[in-house]
Amino acid sequence: MIMSEKGLFGQFGGSYVPEDLQKVLGVLANEFEKAKNDPAFIQEFKDVLTEFVGRENPLTYAKNLSEQQEGARIYLKREDLNHTGAHKINNAIGQILLAKRMGAKRVVAETGAGQHGVATATACAMFGMDCTIYMGKHDMKRQALNVFRMELLGAKVESVAAGQGRLKDAVDAALGDLVENYQHTFYLLGSAVGPHPFPTMVKFFQSVISEESKRQIMEKEGKLPTAVVACVGGGSNAIGAFAHYINEENVRIIGVEPAEAPSLTEGVPAVIHGFKCLTLLDEEGNPKPTYSIAAGLDYPGIGPEHSNLKESGRGEYVTITGQEALDAFKLLSETEGIIPALESAHAIAHAIKLAKELDKDDIIIVNLSGRGDKDVQQVFEMEYGEQE
Ligand SMILES: *Cc1c(COP(=O)(O)O)cnc(C)c1O
Repeated sequence: MIMSEKGLFGQFGGSYVPEDLQKVLGVLANEFEKAKNDPAFIQEFKDVLTEFVGRENPLTYAKNLSEQQEGARIYLKREDLNHTGAHKINNAIGQILLAKRMGAKRVVAETGAGQHGVATATACAMFGMDCTIYMGKHDMKRQALNVFRMELLGAKVESVAAGQGRLKDAVDAALGDLVENYQHTFYLLGSAVGPHPFPTMVKFFQSVISEESKRQIMEKEGKLPTAVVACVGGGSNAIGAFAHYINEENVRIIGVEPAEAPSLTEGVPAVIHGFKCLTLLDEEGNPKPTYSIAAGLDYPGIGPEHSNLKESGRGEYVTITGQEALDAFKLLSETEGIIPALESAHAIAHAIKLAKELDKDDIIIVNLSGRGDKDVQQVFEMEYGEQE
């Protein structure tokens, strides 16, 4: 292991990986730095977001929900309206443009629940890139429909039997592939986690969320929000939703974790997956297996920048239980006609609590990270039991 000083957020982040991988990541960091300062690259990114993803998406005033709480005005940033139904596509497009620019012919990615695999396969289809998705054997069984989606999109899904056959093992397999094939292969990582430069890069591409919401709220309300609320799995939708507000001292930034996987609220500093963050460890010091009803929030660690925002006190991090998220899932559906992803329902649940504590002239922006279609079957089974 060699430790790089780059990509540190306070004591968190960095790059704790073997030397051969460190070199590959060093090249990636340099290429990203050049790309993000190239106006032609940024223009292409914006154009694809407009034409393919459907940005910009609206900032919707949730009138019924707000009036019911008799408190703050709640706005929803509609990442659920993006092509493929969530924020993940923003990052997939950004990284695939970088892959193309670096001359890669092949993309590899990891996926847990399958959402990032689908976003990556979508972007690869669009750019004619060969695509291999590593997925734990165990996860493939639970997410058979997402495996089929990726295959429809032309991707090869590789089953990973090593370890527990879960997300962590898929990450290891994808990194192994990268080290072996780095000359023509690009690793498209799905959240604001991992060794440098991934957290910085993913934040950059997801920052389009707060770039838009800040402009939109100024147009609609003529002032900045009191708080921005987002759910936190690895932390990519949240860091994108917070990015343009971090230096606005009067705007509260609030990340919502599942009470069943509270990395920030109860975690300790440790190195996992090649970077340092607040994480949940078991008695033996290994990443603790977690379970959230929202598959996308089921990660024992958390992005390094969130770890630092928590430690410095700039960010507030709270927990919401699966039951509270489920109640919010139903409430938003009934009051606003929007079925949210179970992940996003965690953010909604907290925004409702917060709205009650605030005044009528306060504004809350909730990042609605994804739509709930993918979760309807699961909620149905939770309500009525598994059907024959
Ligand atoms: C994957 C996912 C998340 C969690 O990932 P982050 O990197 O923390 O944003 C949240 N919401 C939805 C809809 C997702 O698909």
